[in-house]
Amino acid sequence: MQKVSIVVPVYNEQDNLHEFYKRITDTMAAEPYDYGLVFIDDGSTDDSALILAELANSDEKVEAYLLSRNYGHQMALTCGLDNADGDVVITMDGDLQHPPEMIPKMLELWADGNEIVQTKRLATEEANVFKRCSSSMYYKIINTMSKVKITPGGSDFRLMDRKAVDAFKRYRERTRFIRGLVNTLGFKVAAIEFVAPPRFAGKSKFSTNKMLHFALDGITAFSNLPLRWAFYIGLICGICSLLILGHVFYVKYVIDDAVPGWATMTASVLFLGGIQLIGIGILGEYIGRIFEEIKHRPLYIISRHIKKQYP
Ligand code: UDP
Ligand code: MG
Repeated sequence: MQKVSIVVPVYNEQDNLHEFYKRITDTMAAEPYDYGLVFIDDGSTDDSALILAELANSDEKVEAYLLSRNYGHQMALTCGLDNADGDVVITMDGDLQHPPEMIPKMLELWADGNEIVQTKRLATEEANVFKRCSSSMYYKIINTMSKVKITPGGSDFRLMDRKAVDAFKRYRERTRFIRGLVNTLGFKVAAIEFVAPPRFAGKSKFSTNKMLHFALDGITAFSNLPLRWAFYIGLICGICSLLILGHVFYVKYVIDDAVPGWATMTASVLFLGGIQLIGIGILGEYIGRIFEEIKHRPLYIISRHIKKQYP
């Protein structure tokens, strides 16, 4: 029988885990597949790890990887994809915003020969106007800038065939934006839409700050365009300053009406300085990322693996 692995990153979800486990178990019981639940505890500070250990010790279908600290959603997902052994792997959040009831539909699409089933979030009932607007604007920007297209409302709720998972595992970069990486893989992709319900319990772990970092990762990991902007902006400024210089000579030698032009000078020096700082900032952003990658540090460290053993 073919096996479905369900990968779930967990960070302080103690009030969601039992409900999540119950709904997954109910859904999968009706499916003609063997299955396994792979929980990754991303350094939770509440009782999540304890609950996961209980689940793993009482049900042989459940296993838990406890990371040594909080590595973030994308790394926890990576750990799960690295360790899941199913013929097909489904990644989803543990807060029930990715409805388990969608799984049968996804598996049907897989059985029809699709190798990746990507879900698209239509609206998060919970999300405020700011999150919605910034999210839609972000996807517009990133799609004009980068060669790889990233679906708006794309979520990390997706199904991947073994072939796609093995291909994905060969991407070892640190600054990872899994949605984008998966889009570079190719394969036969199907998309389905869903409305994300509010979290079952608890609060979102993504602060505006974290979202911003994540968004920047998405842009710099897939586009060199900002680097080119710095060059073009510099070019335009260079030409402008040449024109101004011409004007200065004209005023001094042709119409001989030179007023002390310190204000203009200061303004243009400031302007150019600003532009240079922008350029350096963009460079710095990329160099920082090179530095991060070149260290080749492990992406995550597992402190414990819990799985029920049979004699
Ligand atoms: N998560 C994680 N590590 C983190 C933050 C979140 O593993 O540092 C998990 C979290 O437990 C949940 C999923 O990632 O299962 C999505 O997080 P959340 O619901 O907070 O994000 P949102 O739905 O608000 O985008
Ligand atoms: Mg959520």
